[in-house]
Amino acid sequence: MLIEDYELEVSTPPCEPGAERFSAIAHLKVDISEVLPYLNATLRGAVYHKQANALTWTKGGHTIAFHASEIAASNVEDKDEAVKELEGLIALVNRTWERREKITPDFEAHQRPTPMAVFKLLPQTNCKQCGEPTCYTFALKLTVSQRKLEDCPVLFEPAYADQLEALRGLIIDAPAIGR
Ligand code: SF4
Repeated sequence: MLIEDYELEVSTPPCEPGAERFSAIAHLKVDISEVLPYLNATLRGAVYHKQANALTWTKGGHTIAFHASEIAASNVEDKDEAVKELEGLIALVNRTWERREKITPDFEAHQRPTPMAVFKLLPQTNCKQCGEPTCYTFALKLTVSQRKLEDCPVLFEPAYADQLEALRGLIIDAPAIGR
């Protein structure tokens, strides 16, 4: 196990005193730099900053940042959720580290797709069957993993098969973080 011990700090961002969203940081007692290229290889949509020795990732509307000696999650609803999120991320790091011999590390920086790039591949009917007012709103939420491709039934019609395939290779598919 790579991370065995850490100190948890949960706070409201200093620029937003009294805000109802929280940030959480796990201060680590080990250096996790070596695991970052393995996370980069396995977390779709992650952006690795080799020079800064950091990796950022968006999951369910939360921004996650992995650094050498800390893991931070922002925009979390409450303290309990912040703790749960961080514990899940630590478990993810440990699982990835344990599986590293089966993963080819990736040292490249990958760009997150823009909402417009995603929108161009959607049916663009604004039919609202996904519950969003427009396809563009749906694209915005897809890029930050707040919606899934399966939420757009139109995409699964045969006429959109090529677009669906292209989207599967493009969008950020944030895997569930196990505990
Ligand atoms: S269901 Fe699909 S096609 Fe309809 S508005 Fe939502 S994203 Fe657009």
